[in-house]
Amino acid sequence: MRKKIVAGNWKMNTTPAEGVELAKGVAEGKKEVCECVNFIVCPPFTHLSEVVKVTRGTGIAVGAQDCATEAKGAYTGEVAASMIASLGVEYVILGHSERRQYYGETSETLNKKMAQAYANNLTPIYCVGESLEERKAGKHFDVCKAQIEEVVFNLTPEQYSKLVIAYEPVWAIGTGETATAEQAQEIHAYIREVLASKFGEAAAETPILYGGSCKPSNAAEIFAKEDVDGGLIGGAALKAEDFLAIGKGF
Ligand code: PEP
Repeated sequence: MRKKIVAGNWKMNTTPAEGVELAKGVAEGKKEVCECVNFIVCPPFTHLSEVVKVTRGTGIAVGAQDCATEAKGAYTGEVAASMIASLGVEYVILGHSERRQYYGETSETLNKKMAQAYANNLTPIYCVGESLEERKAGKHFDVCKAQIEEVVFNLTPEQYSKLVIAYEPVWAIGTGETATAEQAQEIHAYIREVLASKFGEAAAETPILYGGSCKPSNAAEIFAKEDVDGGLIGGAALKAEDFLAIGKGF
């Protein structure tokens, strides 16, 4: 049985105080959602410490949105995986399309970040996905395959066993445009096939989340698909009510 996960990527939104209220709201409402759903909230770095405190004992896990490529040292503005982990954070989003697009993250960078995450016991939520041009050109399978081969294939089987993947078509992120449930299933099944070609049966246990304008009105249809194990949620994660309603999609 694969883990069902609903993860919220808050991006660069909320003040620390608002973030704490949001996390408390999720913790409060979680009782009405199936216990089978694993909720993760990923606030900005500045909120992590307080959000860990208010979610402790509620069953909600906390993730960061990124980590540094290096362990420590003269890297102004960077935050090391060890610093994040020391707060009680369990997950880290890596390879989000906004980081690839706006901050030039490459597979080379991501291999280093993955190594830092694993060295500090953080579980990566590794994002893959194609742009609109790539989708239109029918290259979406190849793009996702390359993003996996160049990074995930470098993991040891033990590291791989902890990995979470998020498929996020760039054209569906923050645009209101969602992949259809069929499109999501098609590529999730393909991604699992690619993973299986390297890691064998372990691929059947890897949670693959869908991300891209996922909301209460479309979550259930997408989550019903065999290879979709939950969602990475952006905009709709900023309202506890909507985030929880997405969890009810299972
Ligand atoms: C995201 O950026 O991870 C995301 C899925 O955003 P949104 O839900 O707002 O499209």
